[in-house]
Amino acid sequence: EKKYDKGLAKTRKTFSERMNELFANFRSVDEDFFEELEETLIGADVGFETAIRISEELKQEVKLKNAKKKSAIQNAIIEKLVNIYESEGIEENNALNLQQNELTIILFVGVNGVGKTTSIGKLAYQYKNEGKKVLLAAADTFRAGAIDQLVVWGERAGVEVVHGDAGGDPASVVFDAVRKAKEQQADILLVDTAGRLQNKVHLMKELEKIKRIIQREVPEAPHEVLLVLDATTGQNAMVQAKQFKETTDVTGLVLTKLDGTAKGGIVLAIRNELHLPVKLVGLGEGIEDLQAFNPTEFVYGLFK
Ligand code: GDP
Repeated sequence: EKKYDKGLAKTRKTFSERMNELFANFRSVDEDFFEELEETLIGADVGFETAIRISEELKQEVKLKNAKKKSAIQNAIIEKLVNIYESEGIEENNALNLQQNELTIILFVGVNGVGKTTSIGKLAYQYKNEGKKVLLAAADTFRAGAIDQLVVWGERAGVEVVHGDAGGDPASVVFDAVRKAKEQQADILLVDTAGRLQNKVHLMKELEKIKRIIQREVPEAPHEVLLVLDATTGQNAMVQAKQFKETTDVTGLVLTKLDGTAKGGIVLAIRNELHLPVKLVGLGEGIEDLQAFNPTEFVYGLFK
């Protein structure tokens, strides 16, 4: 809880400052107000579409309910932000799709430097602490250093890392890892993949190949394909999300480095514009700094 609050401090500060500014000169809900509201929301990185949507919905509501009081308007804005998250009924699925008494396979995708390896290490640590048997697969054989880095995280978390040589075939690493996970009756296999190959088609083919290898052994896997995004990159993260959505079936997002940015509003932009749930958030560099994302808490946190 505390960590969650602390990790969002920068986002909250900027967001609440902007909102306070907006309401400091509040006189009436006129066209100027809605224009300022849109600017405020866009400035808070919730995205253009999201800002317009909230503003339009608020206009309707103000008309219907004849709401004029500052507090009523503020509450309505909070409600609409939460709704963006709840409207599609996917919110209960914020939790990862873990199999009971069977092997769960989670694929991690995303460009280099976003925090993929770190997030895998943190998650491995959490599951290990819950008493689960965890295995990691170092299928990013493309980036120099990626394997070593995952091995280090494996040591920290106290879990085994299946890997081959740098430059090797990622699919064969995945094959070995899935076999091993089955042999050892592991609960969870987390697979690190290459973020950037020669081009998008190549990346797509590689990910498809990895999936086919997995499905030969475990037909209904991977149970999650998590796209890792760096929140500090703001709108750039949105662009990456769009591209990866075209490349593979992403089931959810891991938004990292929220502690280092005031651009946390991006969570709402992603939800509204890409219809992908944020499942985990990275709130620091430490092994315990990864948490399940709670949208309602997040939005209310912005107005604290
Ligand atoms: P990868 O290339 O996607 O595997 O990225 P890494 O896992 O190597 O992470 C890149 C950098 O981001 C490292 O220095 C991490 O410590 C840092 N990092 C990852 N997640 C977080 C986070 O949630 N908060 C902060 N502050 N740093 C993070």
